[in-house]
Amino acid sequence: MKFDLNYKLTQNFTLSEFICTSSPSFKKSLIDQINNSERVLCLKMLCTCLLQPIRDQFGRIKISSGFRTAHLNFQIGGHPNSDHLNAAAADFFGMKGNDLQDTYKWIQEKKLPYRNLIYYPKRRFIHISINTPYKEDKNIAFIKED
Ligand SMILES: [Zn+2]
Repeated sequence: MKFDLNYKLTQNFTLSEFICTSSPSFKKSLIDQINNSERVLCLKMLCTCLLQPIRDQFGRIKISSGFRTAHLNFQIGGHPNSDHLNAAAADFFGMKGNDLQDTYKWIQEKKLPYRNLIYYPKRRFIHISINTPYKEDKNIAFIKED
């Protein structure tokens, strides 16, 4: 099955939002590789269980890093085993300048089923990922001060 980039993963998230790069060549390989049923399913779980509930509570959020190919992940210094490689993670920030500290706390209070939840106060974004069948399950949250 081929997915259109406008394909709606949930009410407020489309496939295109998870292709985050300004480089035309990276963009092409991301589009080619994201168009895969298992990756789309991972993104759908990520949106349904995590990003859409966050969006419903705090308003619009902007995805600054979504799916990554191994090449893109290497170029930007991502962890070699990053959940971004499985299309199971997103980095985001609030569009309305909403306090990410509150968002970080709320995600934990609501016990949303995250795998990793990392708040970067200096860099002003949150990394969140979902458990998939490809890796051992985790439920870890912490603040990274760099
Ligand atoms: Zn991330």
